Amino acid sequence: MSRAEIVSGISSIVVKIGTNALTDKKGALDHAVISALADDLARLRKQRGIHITLVSSGAIGAGMMEMGLSARPKDLPMLQAAAAVGQSLLINQFAQALKPHGLHAGQILVTRQDFEHRLRYLNLRNCIHALQRSNALPIINENDAVAVEEIRFGDNDLIAAHITNLLRADMLILLSVVDGLLDEQGQVQATVSDMDESVAAMVRPEKSTRGSGGMGGKLVAAGTVRTAGEPVIIANGKMPSVVSRLLAGEDIGTLILPGARRLSARSRWIGLTAKTLGTLTVDDGAVKALKNNKSLLAGGIISVGGKFSRGDAVAVVDGAGNVVARGLSNYADEDVEKIMGRKSKDFAALLGLDTWYEEVIHRDDLVLTQ
Ligand code: GLU
Repeated sequence: MSRAEIVSGISSIVVKIGTNALTDKKGALDHAVISALADDLARLRKQRGIHITLVSSGAIGAGMMEMGLSARPKDLPMLQAAAAVGQSLLINQFAQALKPHGLHAGQILVTRQDFEHRLRYLNLRNCIHALQRSNALPIINENDAVAVEEIRFGDNDLIAAHITNLLRADMLILLSVVDGLLDEQGQVQATVSDMDESVAAMVRPEKSTRGSGGMGGKLVAAGTVRTAGEPVIIANGKMPSVVSRLLAGEDIGTLILPGARRLSARSRWIGLTAKTLGTLTVDDGAVKALKNNKSLLAGGIISVGGKFSRGDAVAVVDGAGNVVARGLSNYADEDVEKIMGRKSKDFAALLGLDTWYEEVIHRDDLVLTQ
């Protein structure tokens, strides 16, 4: 599929911009970049009716500058404080830049838990849709002021990927200060159709100086979106009108083509976003059955790990430890222990119950890793 074909059908996008693209040489928020981006997105919204969600970094960088901190704080409370100070400056700049277009800046600050809890996840989607209906551009960042280490993504590329999956947006655009994924000769790789080792080898060890991204993180984020069935473009956020140019089919940046299947909204959450609380190790027969679109039965389970309740997400792994699927378990871990390796005719006696589920994970609640 050519770029022109891919971009022609697009009606919704998620754009993520990184700290280095948003700040000037000294590290201050670059007003020119912010207003150029706001102009570009406002134009696309007005002229092409594209639904746009922006994920913007830059809070910590802006806060550091404002508070006179020369280096990124190492201790978490100071990092939180810098984000608290910087986030208001950041959103204010976007609000000012969007105003002439009759648009509001709708700030949404998220933590990992907002994605892991199904209800909060769906609430997030409702809020984004309501903003888009109300002449507002949703602008998302991690709630760094409260997101302590255990609940931190620490990586807006990944947040943008989960938002893309949440919205089933048609494309994710990752903007940074590089022109795309560069090959060994330093040339932009125009298209990536498979996330194989040759692609991984193109990741250089250097990371962004003020943000927390880097090409490795971008590829992980892109992998999440392509697994769900949507394309990703990595391009330079300093390039004028970059988003319009990409949506006009211009051959800039690196296009990462989607995988073959397109997952439903629910499967995206189960397979790519929900937190897995346990593992079920299964035998080869069960792996084969799962790959043939069958449910997971107790008979094929060899061992159980972790603590989980009925309805929680678990990973299904093969004998070699590879994750073959993720799904929602019909049984808590202690009940799987009782029935694993057994047939359903024995479940009543083993569980001491009159009714039971035939499947440990029903096919409808199961998503294969590939
Ligand atoms: N949330 C961080 C900030 O606003 C950025 C995280 C990232 O660079 O991915 O500074």
